[in-house]
Amino acid sequence: MTARTQRSFGDRAVLYWSAMLETLNPATGEVLATFPVHGSREVEAAVAQAREAAVWWAGLGWSGRRIRLLAWKSHLTRYMARLAQLVHDETGKPLDDAKLEIILAIVHIDWAARHARRVLRPRRVRSGLAAINQASTVEYHPLGVVGVIGPWNYPFTNGVGDAIPALAAGNAVIHKPSSVTPMTALLMDEALRECGLPDDIFQVLVGRGPIGLTLIDQVDMVMFTGSTETGKKVMERAAKTLTPVSLELGGKDPMIVLADADLDRSANAAVFWSMQNGGQTCISVERVYVEEPIYEEFVAMVAERVRALRQGVPGDFGSVEVGSFTNPPQIEIVEAHVADAVAKGARVLAGGQRLQTDGTFFEPTVLAGVDHTMACMTEETFGPTLPIMKVRDADEAIKLANDTPYGLQASVYTKDIAKGEAVARRIQAGAVVVNDANANYIALEAPMGGWKQSGLGVRHGAEGIRKYCRRQTIVLTRFAMKKDLYFFPYGKGKSEFLVRLLKLLYGRGARD
Ligand code: NAD
Repeated sequence: MTARTQRSFGDRAVLYWSAMLETLNPATGEVLATFPVHGSREVEAAVAQAREAAVWWAGLGWSGRRIRLLAWKSHLTRYMARLAQLVHDETGKPLDDAKLEIILAIVHIDWAARHARRVLRPRRVRSGLAAINQASTVEYHPLGVVGVIGPWNYPFTNGVGDAIPALAAGNAVIHKPSSVTPMTALLMDEALRECGLPDDIFQVLVGRGPIGLTLIDQVDMVMFTGSTETGKKVMERAAKTLTPVSLELGGKDPMIVLADADLDRSANAAVFWSMQNGGQTCISVERVYVEEPIYEEFVAMVAERVRALRQGVPGDFGSVEVGSFTNPPQIEIVEAHVADAVAKGARVLAGGQRLQTDGTFFEPTVLAGVDHTMACMTEETFGPTLPIMKVRDADEAIKLANDTPYGLQASVYTKDIAKGEAVARRIQAGAVVVNDANANYIALEAPMGGWKQSGLGVRHGAEGIRKYCRRQTIVLTRFAMKKDLYFFPYGKGKSEFLVRLLKLLYGRGARD
């Protein structure tokens, strides 16, 4: 690591094409470290070593792997403060948000350690009459080497975190963190060795997009979390080798507040779920639709709460609610969305400006009087902004909520739970939460994955582990006679008998 120096973000662009990569504290502009960028030779070597290690790891069996996963969990629990501090330094997020990342990983390892065995146990499959002579079992085998490519907004939860189920399923993992946040991943690499895992079971490749592409060519599966734009490139590249991909992509999560909602809870939730982590969460509330009778009151309550938020260079726990951008260029998208909204008639009720500091900060911002001609309502903003739109009724809110290429998450607020559920079912999103927003992320039993252009596949739940496996169906013949009826030679009588039998078994339709 280099000595700590100050460097402006402009200099960073020059470094983009160099063979070195710099990590900054985006809240202060301080350079934290420089790393050499890995090249295609390092990718090849890493994959070859991971292949060997994967055989050993899979051969350990579930009990052997479980002991090491539990050691990892204890390690994270013991060193939570150190890890959270590093995430906080590297991302500019409050320590309170950084700590949450480590907690989510601990809970996830715990879940995998308790459930992976059951989830991966061979499953007997009952067949219909046509296959009465067959006894089938589905077995799950590790894929081998999984490439986990992660984003900068949750370097721990979405980078290291996706290694958890892949490792639990018996694979080796090569993690390519975002070039903006490689330090967290490198520390995890060290930690896993301290927990008794051999060097090559979890490896980290430092670099930008091109390294990701090289990795895709060589691994057995790609778990990608990032933007929809990059996700499409990942899928295109993986198609060349028919490598399976799981994609967790961008979103534009709507929140719907119905007229009978508890206004205090809705306003508090809107503020928290839009501003937590500086709005840089894939499942942040990005836009709100409020029924006409409560619109003005709701907007006033939200604006008052947002104006009370404290922002600045995060210090100890509880020092600020909103930190800086983790990826400094992101501020330009946020500024453009706010400027576009204002130019088209939106009112800024809180914030609205970039802060003039060494770090990259944008004030927590509330926009009212917005509509779907504005980018802030249709494109992912990924920053501390909350545009709030008035709607006639629930039908209009649902129509607008679905008017997006994304379908990651959504939330509905009402005191009438049955109505909330009914609205939830009409929203095109992988998860819809009634009277809360991202809460499902900790319900690890339930699958989470985007619809439409928000992703492909799921994380969490049984499928979140099984996706890291090859399925193999083993079929046993119950009564292995010399010849089955349908074997050669064909004959008229035999075929007519089979047709009659088929009609008898399947020919009856549903009764009117
Ligand atoms: P990004 O797409 O720019 O980068 C993600 C990762 O892909 C990085 O490691 C990057 O280096 C790598 N990459 C870039 N180009 C590549 C290429 N051509 N081939 C292979 N890898 C390549 O995303 P980001 O800006 O780091 O993250 C923010 C985005 O991630 C937002 O859109 C957010 O919604 C999304 N996100 C989604 C989830 C989810 O679970 N759905 C979670 C977190 C973030």
